[in-house]
Amino acid sequence: MNVASIQNLVYLLASVLFIVGLKGLSHPRTAVRGNLMGGLGMLLAIVATLVGSGVVEFELIIGGIAIGAAIGAVLAYRIQMTAMPQLVGLYNGFGGIASVLVAGAVLYQTLFASVAPGIQESVATVASGLVGAVTFWGSLVAFGKLQGIVTEKPVRYRGEQVVKIVVAAAAIAVAVLAARDPARTELYWLLAGAASILGILLVIAIGGADMPIVIALLNSYSGIAAAATGFVLNNTVLIIAGSLVGASGIILTNIMCKAMNRSLANVLFGGVGAIQQSAADADEVYGGRIKSTSAEEVAMILKTAQRVSFVPGYGMAVAQAQTPVRTLTEAMEADDINVDFGIHPVAGRMPGHMNVLLAEENISYDKLREMDAINPEFPNVDVVIVLGANDVVNPVAREASDSPIAGMPILNVDQARTVVVIKRSLSPGFAGIPNPLFAADNTLMLFGDGKKVMEQLVSAYREA
Ligand code: NDP
Repeated sequence: MNVASIQNLVYLLASVLFIVGLKGLSHPRTAVRGNLMGGLGMLLAIVATLVGSGVVEFELIIGGIAIGAAIGAVLAYRIQMTAMPQLVGLYNGFGGIASVLVAGAVLYQTLFASVAPGIQESVATVASGLVGAVTFWGSLVAFGKLQGIVTEKPVRYRGEQVVKIVVAAAAIAVAVLAARDPARTELYWLLAGAASILGILLVIAIGGADMPIVIALLNSYSGIAAAATGFVLNNTVLIIAGSLVGASGIILTNIMCKAMNRSLANVLFGGVGAIQQSAADADEVYGGRIKSTSAEEVAMILKTAQRVSFVPGYGMAVAQAQTPVRTLTEAMEADDINVDFGIHPVAGRMPGHMNVLLAEENISYDKLREMDAINPEFPNVDVVIVLGANDVVNPVAREASDSPIAGMPILNVDQARTVVVIKRSLSPGFAGIPNPLFAADNTLMLFGDGKKVMEQLVSAYREA
């Protein structure tokens, strides 16, 4: 068996590990193992590439790995859960720029060796440059928006779509020219420049709160760029890994859009972040109907309950209120109260946001109920505690209307006997619309920061 065959066998093993790892990521119980398997696959692929490709100087490679690993480890340890979407966005961007640079370097290498790149290499090179540059700049803008460096609001202007179409057409035209005449390397960089402008224009027009969906899409793009670079390098494992990232990114984008009842086109061109709540709307919905309560009163109600469901949302993540949630859960369970959690697929600001926060507190996965499983049971729930959730429990979604969440599946908490909503004010959530749940007859509002209120509730419950 020669080196190339061994390398291909290792690539095959790495690809199987990627696929099995991805499967593992589909359930919280197997996610850590899945992550490790994917990582092991990548390690095998890297080692097989380095050993099998006859690399003679390892200094730069080892130096690069050491610096990258150190930065990655510090970032991973220090990052707040709420900042995870922008970190993922940044990683996608780095993948995109790596594709641009590697494809460009291979182009020079081929030309210096006085070899004319074949049609596969030429097409793959321009695809890497085009998609990679869109991904890099798009991801940087997405990062900037989520980090508050760039305006969170969608940047809209007259003739916006025309400008984007012109830039996209220009980028594609240069791509065709560059693929036909690879020796003119300036065309490759012109293409990367046009694609960079396109990446900025595409993402700057989208509202900051829609960024997690855009990041999932850019994740898919980074995979496509990597797969294209795999064709440039004739590296099968890069083609496979890139295709897996491309496919899983688009599946995730689709799941997120579906859970929000929005089309991808609406996310990309609709600009939901631009919607402002009108004061008149809020007055109409809430006027004189809000019943405010106290931690002591809620504690008394909980004491008499047999079944309590928490419905966490973005506010729990912001307030980092998951620790007192666990404490209260344990206290109630000690009193034989049945406690579970209703998890909406887009609660928070990234897929699985609530699952991760609750898992950090070692709350058992069996208690986390998916929307379809818990919805029919709400009429039998004595108390629902809505903690920092808003849109995902807004009954307006069930009505056919022109509201941005019309048709979005929600958790039907309003059907429970008593609903306690914990949030700081009557401010709207991500969709920017009032929530009639807050004014419902069976709803009590417990105003305050999620963590502080939950801590008060724990003390009040213990004293009740
Ligand atoms: P929302 O954004 O609808 O509402 C969150 C609520 O949390 C706010 O109304 C806010 O009210 C409250 N809040 C904020 N800070 C605190 C705090 N410190 N303590 C207590 N409450 C607080 O969140 P949901 O989770 O209900 O819905 C998620 C929304 O995000 C959906 O519209 C979804 O479509 C969208 N989305 C989700 C993505 C995902 O992948 N999960 C991706 C992109 C968008 P107040 O200011 O009064 O405290």
